[in-house]
Amino acid sequence: MVNVKVNLEKRSYNIHIDVSTSNLIGNFMQTMKVNKKILVISDTAVGNLYGIQMVELLIKDGFIAELYCVPPGEHSKNLDVAMELYTKAITLELDRNCAIVALGGGVIGDLSGFVAATYLRGVPFIQIPTSLLAQVDSSVGGKVAVNHPMGKNLIGAFYQPRMVLIDINFLSTLPNRELYTGLAEVIKYGMIADKKFFTYLCDHSRQILDKRPDVLTEIVRRSCEIKAWVVEQDECESSIRAILNFGHTIGHAIEADTNFSVYNHGEAVAIGMYGAALISNHLGMCSKATVDVLKHILLQFNLPVYAPECGIEDLFKLLYRDKKVLDNKITWVLLNDIGEVNLCNQVPENIVKLALAEIT
Ligand code: NAD
Ligand code: ZN
Repeated sequence: MVNVKVNLEKRSYNIHIDVSTSNLIGNFMQTMKVNKKILVISDTAVGNLYGIQMVELLIKDGFIAELYCVPPGEHSKNLDVAMELYTKAITLELDRNCAIVALGGGVIGDLSGFVAATYLRGVPFIQIPTSLLAQVDSSVGGKVAVNHPMGKNLIGAFYQPRMVLIDINFLSTLPNRELYTGLAEVIKYGMIADKKFFTYLCDHSRQILDKRPDVLTEIVRRSCEIKAWVVEQDECESSIRAILNFGHTIGHAIEADTNFSVYNHGEAVAIGMYGAALISNHLGMCSKATVDVLKHILLQFNLPVYAPECGIEDLFKLLYRDKKVLDNKITWVLLNDIGEVNLCNQVPENIVKLALAEIT
C-alpha cells in the first residue's frame, strides 16, 4: 500500500493508494473513530458496479451503512440534489460524528463533500474516488461545490476529507474517454512540477493506456503527491495553488464556448495547455521543442490540441469571464520548461490572440 500524507494546519489526512484498497473499507473506517452509521453517496453507474458490495462489506464489519445513488453526470451537482441528500441524512438520523462517504467520480466527490461540509455544520467526510480525474485531482485538496444555473462550482467551500481511499482496480471499468480526461490532469502535474515524472509518462504511455495496475498506481501516487505539495502551501488558493490552473484559463473558455457539450473537462484543459505553451513560446519563455513535446504526449493519450468549433474573439471574451479573473486581470500559468511554470498577469492581447488562432 502506498500512502501520501496531506499536511495541513488544522488537520492532516492520508491518501491510501493500491489495488483492492476498497476491500479493506471496514478496517479503514474503524481507524476513523466515527459513529457506526455511514451514508455512502454514489451515482447509479458506479453504485451498481461497486456501491452495493461496499455497503455489504461495511455492514459485515458492524457498520450501519446505506447507499444513496443519484443520476450520473454533471447535472446532479446542484442544490436540488444536495437537498435530497440532506433529507436522506436527516431521515437516517445521522449525527455530527457519522460519516459521509463519496464513492464515485468528481461529481459525486464535489456534491457529497458540499453536503458533508454543510449538513449539521460539517460531518466527517471520506473520499473514495473511482475515476482517474477524481483520484488524481478532485478528491485531494478540499474544494467542494455544487453548480448554479449561472456558472459551475459557484456555491462551495474548502472542506478537507478525513481520508482518501484510492482503489486502482476501479479504473478497470472506467470508459476510455474518462481515462484520457484524467490523463490530461496527470500530464499537467508533470508540466508544472516534475520533469522526471513527465518523462516517466512518455516512457510508459503504452502501459498507461493498457491500464497496467502498477503503472497506474505510480502515476496516481505521484500526481497526489504533487497536488498535496501545492495544497499544503496554499490551502485556500491565495497564491501558489494557482499553478494548478495551467491549461485551465483557455480550457474553461473552450468549455463555455462549446456549451460544455463538445469537450469534457480534461479535453478542454489539454487544448488549453497547448495554448498556454504556445503563449509561453511566443513570449520567449520556452522553446518550440518544449511545446512540441507537450503536443506529442497529449496526442498520444488521445487528447485534442485544437478546438476548431471555437472562434478567436469569442474565446478571448470568455477568458475574462472566468471566476479566477480579478480586477480584469488574467493570471496566466506559463511554461519556462517542462516541470517549471511562472505566473504572469501581463500578456499582450496580440500574443494571446495569436495562440488562440493556432488552437482554433
Ligand atoms: P464524473 O463524476 O461525472 O465521472 C465521469 C463518468 O465516469 C460518470 O458517468 C461516472 O458514472 C463514470 N465513472 C466514474 N468512475 C467509474 C468507474 N470506476 N467505472 C465506470 N464508470 C465510472 O466526472 P469526473 O470527470 O470524475 O469529475 C468531474 C467533476 O469534478 C466536475 O464536476 C468538476 O467540476 C469536478 N472537479 C473538482 C475538482 C476539485 O478540486 N474539487 C477538481 C477537478 C474537477
Ligand atoms: Zn482540471
